[in-house]
Amino acid sequence: MTGRVHLIGGGPGPIDLMTVRAWRLLTSAEVVVMDRLGPTDLRGELRPDAEVIDVGKLPGHHPVPQDEINALLVDRARAGNQVVRLKGGDPFVFGRGGEEVAACLAAGIPVDVVPGVTSAVAVPQAAGIPVTHRGVATAVHIVHGQGPVSASTVAALRDPEVTTVILMGVSAIPRIVADALRAGVDADRPVAIVERGHHLDQRTTRTTLGRAVLDAGRTGIRNPAVIVVGDVARAELLLPAHEMTGDTVR
Ligand code: SAH
Repeated sequence: MTGRVHLIGGGPGPIDLMTVRAWRLLTSAEVVVMDRLGPTDLRGELRPDAEVIDVGKLPGHHPVPQDEINALLVDRARAGNQVVRLKGGDPFVFGRGGEEVAACLAAGIPVDVVPGVTSAVAVPQAAGIPVTHRGVATAVHIVHGQGPVSASTVAALRDPEVTTVILMGVSAIPRIVADALRAGVDADRPVAIVERGHHLDQRTTRTTLGRAVLDAGRTGIRNPAVIVVGDVARAELLLPAHEMTGDTVR
């Protein structure tokens, strides 16, 4: 009998930020295909006989090609297994989940998707940043930092009512900033860079567009991080001013 593939959103890291449905599927899965982000500390939680396959990608290292991951999911399900594909955050937010669903359907493998807490919202939240805030930000533009800065991103960065949330953007900070400033975006727009959101070593760097390159270099920003540009990124938005400690607040 053919098995099934469940694409499940793992959230930003801690296992208790997964949905109950995702957790049930994960802990009963016969095969678990994991990523680098999202919940990784799962020892003792999975079935003892579960096959665990890590296709985790480190930036700059050779990733397992997407077509190999797709083939793996199809192969294990075709052998009759309940296969969980555990993804960081939400499977359909820059997670290539759509491609995995399409590959399963093309191969005649039943597949379903369990949504997850996306880092685009939950990582700013972990730093006390609401991506929308009445009277401050009425829209959110979520974008990845790879490739050229598009016209829609420039428009979002210029719009004082829009929050721009950039994933996979650490190495692209100089380029994004240069393109934005060249397009006339205000250099004083607040920026917050949140590394390892919802982990014990979470760190938030508050800066502005004009100073972001300098400050990111000075504090040695590393992946994974979410970059928030917009008035909601101001340190004093929710926190009383006396809790601010220079540019960097925890
Ligand atoms: N599907 C995922 C996003 C995958 S892209 C989601 O919905 O969250 C990977 C990017 O997500 C990283 O480069 C980083 O920008 C962001 N990210 C994921 N988890 C994170 C975390 N705990 N802290 C900071 N950034 C995180």
